[in-house]
Amino acid sequence: MSKKKLIAGNWKMNGSLAANQTLVQALVQGLREPDCDVVVCPPAVYLQQVQQLLAGQTAIGLGAQDVSQHDNGAFTGDASAAMLKDFGVRYAIVGHSERRQHQGETDVHVAIKVKRALAAGITPIVCVGETLREREEGMTEFIVKRQLSAVIHLNGHCISEIVVAYEPVWAIGTGKTATPEQAQAVHAVLRAQLKAATDQADRVRILYGGSMNATNAAELLRQPDIDGGLIGGAALKAPDFLTIVAAAA
Ligand code: PEP
Repeated sequence: MSKKKLIAGNWKMNGSLAANQTLVQALVQGLREPDCDVVVCPPAVYLQQVQQLLAGQTAIGLGAQDVSQHDNGAFTGDASAAMLKDFGVRYAIVGHSERRQHQGETDVHVAIKVKRALAAGITPIVCVGETLREREEGMTEFIVKRQLSAVIHLNGHCISEIVVAYEPVWAIGTGKTATPEQAQAVHAVLRAQLKAATDQADRVRILYGGSMNATNAAELLRQPDIDGGLIGGAALKAPDFLTIVAAAA
């Protein structure tokens, strides 16, 4: 089944008012009517700025890098799904490995965050992926299935509404990319897991993330179960990001 690919830029904790303006203007000028979905995910403090910079065009959507597992209340530093929605956020990255590693997010937290996002009409981009050690120990399939299964368990009835991002931890920000064959093998495992949960599994976009760049994107995106990319470093350089989008279109 053919579906539009999705290219999402995860800016992580990078940017400034001035740099964001330059980047977004270059993207808007460079992308007229792309034949794929494109999203940028700035740091939360810049959501309003980027929302304004994106106003009046439809080629690029707005995403957040996280969403609270709570609705409201005494959760200092959190931003709820409803708050993100106030700023036109359509996608939220959930369970990025950096948050699992540095903020102690567990599979259960991630599953609840997915539920909050879906309830607010935000599409969660659910990140799964193994560390280098887990890969070397032959545990890749076990780890990604465990991570996705927590999300399916809590959100099974609307699981076809999510986006999944397979991001091997050893490939994030390291310049080491999974080979197209390695990535496709894991994507096929995830697709099969989704198929066991829903007859709509072919609708679910499974992105690859981990040092995807202007040079390697086309080959990765040609794999049958790779439906787009979650891009970190290369999303901060307009020409590189535009080249990746062109490879997906
Ligand atoms: C990411 O942070 O999701 C990511 C894939 O980063 P990079 O492209 O820099 O590896």
